[in-house]
Amino acid sequence: MAERPVFVFDPHRDDNRLPSDPDYATARRRWALCPPSLQELFTRAFTVGLRQPGRRVTEGEWQALFRVLEDGAIDCPHCRAENLAEARARELSCWHCRKTVPLPLRLGLRLRLGTMSATIGSTRKTM
Ligand SMILES: [Zn+2]
Repeated sequence: MAERPVFVFDPHRDDNRLPSDPDYATARRRWALCPPSLQELFTRAFTVGLRQPGRRVTEGEWQALFRVLEDGAIDCPHCRAENLAEARARELSCWHCRKTVPLPLRLGLRLRLGTMSATIGSTRKTM
């Protein structure tokens, strides 16, 4: 275990970037496909969260983010690949076939305790 670990996707440090070796292409491609909110949480978890206990990502934060991402999961109408669309997304290209995926309508509620949103008429099939 490293004593001073550096996250390979740390936006402020490049001393542990993934090598350009093709063996790491999958990791690089999957990182690029992560929604920004997921990248932000991973980045916080593996940068400041490693060194500052008060900034660690809590279990509740992970659960809340994954609930939001699950709500925004959309099956591509062209190839059926599952895509993750964030509430703030204005357009989405399928990660698999690269074609445009229509975004569903979202219902947004502004409450005293905060804002919440939900997808209306999800294009996903449920079993
Ligand atoms: Zn597709």
